Amino acid sequence: MPPFTHSTIYDVAVIGAGHAGCEAATAAARMGSRTILFTIDLDKIGHLSCNPSIGGPAKGHLVREIDALGGLIGRITDRTFIQMRLLNESKGPAVQATRAQADKRLYAQVMKEYLEAQANLDIRQAMIERIVPLTPSSDPQAPRFHIYTHTGSLIAARAVVLTSGTFLRGRAITGEAIWQAGRAGEAPSVALADDLAQLGFPTIRLKTGTPPRIDARSVNFALTEPQHGSLTPIWFGHYYQDQSGWLPDDDEHLPAPHPESHRWIHGRPAPIYPVVTPSTWHPQLPCYQIHTTPEFHQIIRDNLDRAPMFSGVIEGTGPRYCPSIEDKIVRFADKERHQLYLEPEGWQSNEMYLQGCNTSLPEDVQWQMIRSIPALANAELMRVGYAIEYDAVASGEIRATLEAKRLPRLFLAGQINGTTGYEEAAAQGIMAGINAACAVQGRDPLILQRDQAYIGVLIDDLVTRDIKEPYRMFTSRAEHRLLLRGDNADLRLTPIAAELGLVNARRANAVANRQDLITHHADQLRGMRVFPSAATNQALTNAGMQALSRESTAAELLARPEARYQQLQQALALDELTNNVIETLEIEMKYGGYLIKQQRQVDRAARMERHLIPATLDVMAISGLRNEAKQVLSRFKPATIGQASRLAGITPADVSVLILAIEKQK
Ligand SMILES: Cc1cc2nc3c(=O)[nH]c(=O)nc-3n(C[C@H](O)[C@H](O)[C@H](O)COP(=O)(O)OP(=O)(O)OC[C@H]3O[C@@H](n4cnc5c(N)ncnc54)[C@H](O)[C@@H]3O)c2cc1C
Repeated sequence: MPPFTHSTIYDVAVIGAGHAGCEAATAAARMGSRTILFTIDLDKIGHLSCNPSIGGPAKGHLVREIDALGGLIGRITDRTFIQMRLLNESKGPAVQATRAQADKRLYAQVMKEYLEAQANLDIRQAMIERIVPLTPSSDPQAPRFHIYTHTGSLIAARAVVLTSGTFLRGRAITGEAIWQAGRAGEAPSVALADDLAQLGFPTIRLKTGTPPRIDARSVNFALTEPQHGSLTPIWFGHYYQDQSGWLPDDDEHLPAPHPESHRWIHGRPAPIYPVVTPSTWHPQLPCYQIHTTPEFHQIIRDNLDRAPMFSGVIEGTGPRYCPSIEDKIVRFADKERHQLYLEPEGWQSNEMYLQGCNTSLPEDVQWQMIRSIPALANAELMRVGYAIEYDAVASGEIRATLEAKRLPRLFLAGQINGTTGYEEAAAQGIMAGINAACAVQGRDPLILQRDQAYIGVLIDDLVTRDIKEPYRMFTSRAEHRLLLRGDNADLRLTPIAAELGLVNARRANAVANRQDLITHHADQLRGMRVFPSAATNQALTNAGMQALSRESTAAELLARPEARYQQLQQALALDELTNNVIETLEIEMKYGGYLIKQQRQVDRAARMERHLIPATLDVMAISGLRNEAKQVLSRFKPATIGQASRLAGITPADVSVLILAIEKQK
């Protein structure tokens, strides 16, 4: 039977509607590309497979950046969170981070609503089994791929973004129970995994895990310690005000974020949760801290011979930084207890995620160990924990555009590239969607540099490193992190998004306006001289600031660690400014010296990033280059000297030889 062929030739076909796929499809559609999004289950669009928590250190920065580029993850979290917190509040701005607990069901529902309302985007439930590359033709409008679904239909597309998550040959494991699954309750992608192998993609086997979910009705909350959310408003999204109030959001079909945010809550919290965080701005649910017990540790030790982690059943490599509880008990044998958190999964759900306790121990062991914790003595496990093993494409296969080196116009994003985490997936997704649309539209690709965005750091790491375990983002991975703050993500990225058509002019103007205000007021503060007169000192002390002993500038006063703009404004009769201008202004004044130093380092490194390595350069023929360097360079095929210098196994001497060889070829 010939396949049922759809008449529309799509510009971009996105396979997978997880966190990467939703961003990729929206970005491509917003850029005017006719886009189709495939997913195995329409009801699982944007599903939060593990902890319904978004953000945290570095991941929160990624969310801000995705939002600044017009992405969805931040805005949908803002509309569906049950708790929002600012982490590291007492530390510097580079490491402060927003973390939200989302309502799992609502998040997926609102994501689907967003996608369904997106122009230029068709959504289909189908399992893709084959991606067949077509011979490139001289007609730029000709399709480049035929995609086949499991029900026998064929769709033609000019570019494909593959975001299949943990589904490629997925295998779920709970103790002795092993079953084929993309994640619990869903079928794996086996035919597509075979197809990728046929196309020549080398793969590695990775693993991740999830904890059991506890029925809240069976928890003794009196033996837990509630952890409340922020009492002051915090948002992931960038929202702007003018004289007339909050500007409406880009997505007119959903309510504007301020000021009646409580209206977004669909229904009331389930009565099972004893405390609701007192709210002045948004109702929230607390999470609850508990600890493991000596008995808990003993139960795990007694059952290590049944732990798939140690018995050789699990072959994939797991994330070192997010170990399973059995791994923690073995690795930190002298630790008497571990912190765990009970986190509600939604306003109207009894399911509680047990953070810190991901495990693939057998089910009977999971029940025993959980019930050894006093607050959980009568716990009912609604879902048991499990590990999942899956195929990811090996390092060295993608360019900085996320395009596959061996198959032009095929872009890979998310877990398939060896990362773990919703934010990492969403960050790659938006970039893959942008670059797929750019390729089809004949536009230059967008590559964010390491000094421009955490997204740039993430993708550069994926392009230049040999990923052997699931990769997650940390602040320490970003060498220019003082420049890459959450407060300035829009200043760094929204102008780029506006040029690409990802955000509208109103939002772009609001960002330009914010930048102008910051520049203007920073100059004003630097130029304003303040003398230690009796009247000035009185005004300063009235505002709660220290008196002056010598002449100073207003900028120097604001640079004092404890000084706030509002105090200075009161003492020196400065202009009234909005919070989002004050925040960046204060950081620029307080960290000005460090910022200048970091910018100088960036300028120095930029020369290396601009130095291109011609695709025609035959590295194997470069005399004087070490064999190991030749192997590494021919595997990763770096596009610039900067990328080459970051590859493991490449020394500064190799870089010099490479530069000489490029000069010679010219
Ligand atoms: C058990 C488990 C534990 C996890 N633990 C953690 C953790 O502790 N920390 C953490 O940060 N992250 C964790 N994650 C990972 C997190 O879920 C992923 O990082 C994130 O969801 C990856 O996003 P993605 O878009 O790449 O893929 P996913 O969100 O997995 O989405 C994949 C999408 O592809 C679709 N798909 C797959 N194959 C096909 C096909 N052939 N045709 C059509 N559609 C297809 C699926 O239907 C789905 O929509 C865990 C995931 C699982 C399953």
